[in-house]
Amino acid sequence: MFQTYLHRFTHLHTAANRTHWTEATCFRAPNKPLLLLAVLDQFAQGNVSGDLIELTPELGELFAGYWSRIMPPHRHGNIAMPFFHLRADRFWHLVARPGQEQALAALITISSIGQVRTVLLGARLDDDLAALLRQPEPREALRRALVETYFAAELQARLLEQGLVNVEAYRYGEELLAQAPPQVLKETPEQYRTAVRDQGFRRVIVSAYDHRCAFCGIRMLTIDGHTAVDAAHIVPWSVSHNDDPCNGMALCRLCHWTFDEGLLGVSARYAVLLGRQLAQSPNVAGHLLTLALRGRPIIGPGEQSLWPDLDALAWHRREVLR
Ligand SMILES: [Zn+2]
Repeated sequence: MFQTYLHRFTHLHTAANRTHWTEATCFRAPNKPLLLLAVLDQFAQGNVSGDLIELTPELGELFAGYWSRIMPPHRHGNIAMPFFHLRADRFWHLVARPGQEQALAALITISSIGQVRTVLLGARLDDDLAALLRQPEPREALRRALVETYFAAELQARLLEQGLVNVEAYRYGEELLAQAPPQVLKETPEQYRTAVRDQGFRRVIVSAYDHRCAFCGIRMLTIDGHTAVDAAHIVPWSVSHNDDPCNGMALCRLCHWTFDEGLLGVSARYAVLLGRQLAQSPNVAGHLLTLALRGRPIIGPGEQSLWPDLDALAWHRREVLR
């Protein structure tokens, strides 16, 4: 059984095009192997229930993480394409949403995540393949085969490292959510620890706030899995060494900068506060939303226990807000 899937994984139908793709990806489109690496990570995280793979923002971020590790910044990946076209490889079976069966049957290609979400529940793997991917040994052998088949030698270590970080970061995030002292960092090789910590904290915060900025409410996700929000520490890591989700908020890039600069803060009743500097000269930060934000309640996470810690917010008002 393993040999069957080893063969299929190393003989994916991928577009070969010497003008479009470089030696780095063996002159082939890397979309399918990168999507499969992201799927393997979700199995390694224990984050796949049943055998249905859904196109969640989390899968999108894993795909985008791999993509940005190896591709130049101006090349954008699109997870919708491999998610649809893997159906040609005989282990990935698209499942239509109820009532969308005919729409799916009529599709010859798909180019947007929105389209995937409208038409598809997800993709079901062969039962035998799903069973193999739940076992570390065959799963990691398939991972190495993907990396060695589709990527140049100098990228292989980077992709394997990314997989390790993805899995450890997920476990780190789960430990943060369980509000247990994180164990995972002790087992993580020293050189990956910062990446694991950053990514784990980020995943927890961004998903708790559902990709929405706590101050201005902006929510933007790109087709290649990028989001407009950062996971901001309230008391910076350099001061607190604290990744507790209650020491974080999801803020868009501009609100994050404004908060870190001390131009905006949050009151004890969770309202956005303008610092004196901004109140006296609203244009100082070039912040279009300044006046609209004053006194507005922050948009907190759905889960009550993950709301910002009032002591951390008080620290920020005392030490940073100006
Ligand atoms: Zn914002």
